[in-house]
Amino acid sequence: MSDFLPFTRPSIDEATIQDVADVLRSGWITSGPKVKAFETALSAYFGGRPVRVVNSATGGQEIALRLIDLQPGDEVITTPMTWVSTTNVILNTGGKLVLVDVDPVTRNIDLDLVEAAITPRTRAIIPIDLAGLPVDRDRLYAIAKKHGLRVIEDAAQAQGATWNGKKIGSFGDLCSISFHANKNMTTTEGGALVMNNEAEAALFEKWRLQGVTRFPDGSMDVDLPGGKFNMTDVAAAIGLGQLRQLDSFNSKRKELAQAYFDLLDPQLGLELPPADFINSNWHMFQPLLPLAKMKISRGEFINRMKEKGIGIGVHYPALHLFTYYRDLGYAEGMYPHAEHIGASTITLPLFPAMEIADVKRVCTALREVLSTSFE
Ligand SMILES: *Cc1c(COP(=O)(O)O)cnc(C)c1O
Repeated sequence: MSDFLPFTRPSIDEATIQDVADVLRSGWITSGPKVKAFETALSAYFGGRPVRVVNSATGGQEIALRLIDLQPGDEVITTPMTWVSTTNVILNTGGKLVLVDVDPVTRNIDLDLVEAAITPRTRAIIPIDLAGLPVDRDRLYAIAKKHGLRVIEDAAQAQGATWNGKKIGSFGDLCSISFHANKNMTTTEGGALVMNNEAEAALFEKWRLQGVTRFPDGSMDVDLPGGKFNMTDVAAAIGLGQLRQLDSFNSKRKELAQAYFDLLDPQLGLELPPADFINSNWHMFQPLLPLAKMKISRGEFINRMKEKGIGIGVHYPALHLFTYYRDLGYAEGMYPHAEHIGASTITLPLFPAMEIADVKRVCTALREVLSTSFE
């Protein structure tokens, strides 16, 4: 197979490339007017709420934990079915990690287990919209309100996804978005936090850049130990171009996901994700492999697909089984649904520049590889 089909590929149009060239020629390449314009455009996209951008969602989430004034030992509830940045930042800001399992169907945090895990030390919940399928926001915020908890939505994958017709990020508490190259819109690397008010946004700006406040007379002061998380104008120019196309990218993703449902052979025994064509932005299309019936491993399956010119991703192994987390005391059997998903999930190619013919190609290769791998 000559042309390799990766599991994802960014779409950057010529107008955006031109805008980046203009920034590079302008003499101002770090944070400046493009960052401001990008934040304004994002704010409009999220219903007028304050938005600030950073050089990664990980950085934005770390700052979010500063904004809620997390104290050492404060408990933060999340799941092991996410990118490990979600939990790393909790530990790095002194929080106490409280993991609960996911729902086996939605693969998102199980809100019954969240309620059961709440203690007097619980400060916040971090739900993840895995693959762009939103966590039930009604139930989530009912729980948060009842127990006086903050919510930091890890909506890294949910750009343009909706809940009850409202965009994720346009309501609720803090909402973190990623612009990593693989996400539905990118700035190469980058992220944003949607906040509740200008006071939070002002504090965010300090944490973003060394704790500095600049005064109109040219003087400055530092009153907290901020980090170095600012986005460059080069990245922001890409983000502005991507935001213009986000809704059309997402409709294309929806069409391709629908094609997978139509074309995947049900005989293969793949466990498909929920067929949500209302709320999800179809960031990923992730079946679970029927490993119990297969005589090859997931790794071998991925290699055979690669030989057929098709890239397969794994998002994600259950994070509590990584060495660092095992050393903290986590082990197999603690979160069975996350473990099952983490061990058998595959991410099929899905990106806006794909065509239905590519989906057909993936489905054919899947049939060839899987049908010869059963016991
Ligand atoms: C991508 C991703 C992140 C991290 O985003 P970065 O911009 O790479 O820091 C966090 N959480 C989830 C669920 C993600 O998919």
